[in-house]
Amino acid sequence: MSTLRFAALRKSLNRKPIKIIDENKRSEIFGENVFNKSKMQQYLSVEAFKSVLDAIDNNSKIDRKEASQVAAGMKEWALSKGATHYTHWFQPLTGATAEKHDAFFEIIENGDAIERFVGSELVQQEPDASSFPHGGIRNTFEARGYTAWDPTSPAFIYGTTLCIPTIFVSYKGDALDYKTPLLRALNAIDDSATAICKFFDKNVKKVNSSLGWEQEYFLVDNALASSRPDIILTGRTLLGHSSAKGQQLDDHYFGTIPSRAMAFMRDLETECMLLGIPLKTRHNEVAPNQFELAPIFEETNLAVDHNSLLMDIMGKTAKRHNFKVLLHEKPFAGISGSGKHNNWSLSTDTGVNLLSPGKTPMSNLQFLTFFINTIKAVNDNEELVRAAIASAGNDHRLGAGEAPPAIISVFIGEQLTSVLKELESVTKGKLSPKEKTDLKLNVVGKIPEILLDNTDRNRTSPFAFTGNKFEFRAVGSMANCANPMTVINTIVAKQLKDFKIEVDKLIKKDMKKDDAIFNVIREYIKSSKNILFEGNSYSEEWQKEAKKRKLSNNNSTPEALKAKISEKTIALFEEMGVMNEIESKARYEIENDEYTLRIQIESRVLGDIARNHIVPTAIKYQNTLIENVKGLKEIFGKEFTIQAKEQIKLIKDISKHIEEINSKVDFMIEERKKANKTLDSNKKSMMYCNKVKPYFDEIRYHCDKLEMQIDDELWPLIKYREMLFIR
Ligand code: ADP
Ligand code: MG
Repeated sequence: MSTLRFAALRKSLNRKPIKIIDENKRSEIFGENVFNKSKMQQYLSVEAFKSVLDAIDNNSKIDRKEASQVAAGMKEWALSKGATHYTHWFQPLTGATAEKHDAFFEIIENGDAIERFVGSELVQQEPDASSFPHGGIRNTFEARGYTAWDPTSPAFIYGTTLCIPTIFVSYKGDALDYKTPLLRALNAIDDSATAICKFFDKNVKKVNSSLGWEQEYFLVDNALASSRPDIILTGRTLLGHSSAKGQQLDDHYFGTIPSRAMAFMRDLETECMLLGIPLKTRHNEVAPNQFELAPIFEETNLAVDHNSLLMDIMGKTAKRHNFKVLLHEKPFAGISGSGKHNNWSLSTDTGVNLLSPGKTPMSNLQFLTFFINTIKAVNDNEELVRAAIASAGNDHRLGAGEAPPAIISVFIGEQLTSVLKELESVTKGKLSPKEKTDLKLNVVGKIPEILLDNTDRNRTSPFAFTGNKFEFRAVGSMANCANPMTVINTIVAKQLKDFKIEVDKLIKKDMKKDDAIFNVIREYIKSSKNILFEGNSYSEEWQKEAKKRKLSNNNSTPEALKAKISEKTIALFEEMGVMNEIESKARYEIENDEYTLRIQIESRVLGDIARNHIVPTAIKYQNTLIENVKGLKEIFGKEFTIQAKEQIKLIKDISKHIEEINSKVDFMIEERKKANKTLDSNKKSMMYCNKVKPYFDEIRYHCDKLEMQIDDELWPLIKYREMLFIR
């Protein structure tokens, strides 16, 4: 009997939900462990408080003296909450978060000890971070990296550690993390969008980008998950025959949340509330043991930090409940994978959502301006948008008939499609007063304030307008949202900048402001038609149609990543002050390498499991069959071939599968060796993608066949039906 599997099964079957005590109202504990504005007001001098606010609202610098005051206040608050350590908390390009804890504790001259935390420790640290990915930015002789305080995301206490959100840059200031380019992109969108807002309302001084993410995940019993080397090392199953019952009955989605999962969620929600992560919804997802949670949307930088923090807390909280959280985009073949919808919008400091139709024709014209510019931005940069969501895990989802395909398109709904059609026929040049009135009353004025009802019906679109926001649905569940959000905000910033130049040009030529806007918009509608698609994005017709429209269809990560270093992309990021050429190229290297490493690890694990677990088990069972056949021969003599017919067939079958597995593993290893000799990072990731990875399915096929033939008692790996239905 396979002892590990059955021990794990016994353990998991005996589990009870962990008791959760959450007596406090959510609103009472919300933000309790966050050094937010109200705590700052309490712990900081008026001067220091003002300077932090100014830094948050206007990007101003905080000087030394004020930083010392902030540090002192922060320390006092942290100690009052029982914190003993502090850390600069940052998001290196590994995809995880990083922290190195230092104690406040310090020995002073007379041998006594104090708790110390000074301004310079708050503002900047110099972690020896030479083993974080840098894509060639950091030379070996200059291995230092710097973390620098980001006052726009508040410090928080997790456990007994004060965590200070920071950026992470090289000695020369080049970005080594996700946050730095994101902050620059948010700056760019603020500049461009505010300038456009002034066409409509002179009082607007700032535009914020908002993000509301929706996180999908799987929960698997910890004992079951830990007994599978593939889940431990790669976050997904590399083999496993599908369960007789999967998601075909649609009986999980929005169903009653299983009690152990519910206990986990409540515990997680309490943790999140304390940390100021405004979780709002929770529900079962499509696949068995798949769930989703989503917060109320927030300013993008904060929302990104909160999602990174959440992914970390999920893992820790799950342990307490004897679960393993799988954030991988495709943990199980044959059933839905996980994504992370990024709901994105722009709002002004005067409280207007720029992607929400308003009450008056003028506010609707403002809405249309932002709406159409966003569509044009995606149209002109569709390949870069695709690259922003490229990862080894997400490749399994995109185009697999569950997530959007690898072709980027925009869905806007029937009503707005007809509005665009009308705007397309606006007269060139100056508009007659009648036409303008007509437009304002009958077209622009007729956009209802709330569009939610007749949009959002197309779940197959990668980028859908959903009434008051765009929903970027192709993002992977494991991704750091900073990457897609940096791209979306940068391309829209650039587009709005160009829009302003064109409108200003027409105004200079003596055209009225709204005439000019209508004129430019009309041309944009015409030139971005290719990206609009309302039909079924899963269909084969769309693949053909998209090809005709010359939209990219980059099916793999190595293919998609190339757009990150095209001349156009490099120029775009440079112009918008988001990344210089070195930074763009470094990220390209890092992402190619990450892809290679992930496939390399999967390939090794698959080879090991196939040879060390599956083949020996198959031989063991085959030996039992051989014994059986020998016995039958003893009893029946010559006639035994009749009685042993099926067994002999099975013996032959097993030999065939063993042979296939062994030879395919050998071929795969050969391909790995070849790929490893390649120096160019993209060529290498391409080889892993096109030469190594194809063996995964072939090896898996034979292993899964054996799973169906071999005695269940002998099978060493937890089966799909056990992982997906034990809860
Ligand atoms: P679903 O996509 O599952 O139908 P909803 O459309 O209701 O769910 O919203 C999902 C997410 O959209 C939530 O995280 C919510 O906070 C976010 N959201 C709602 N309005 C906005 C907005 N104006 N900007 C950004 N995100 C938003
Ligand atoms: Mg959604």
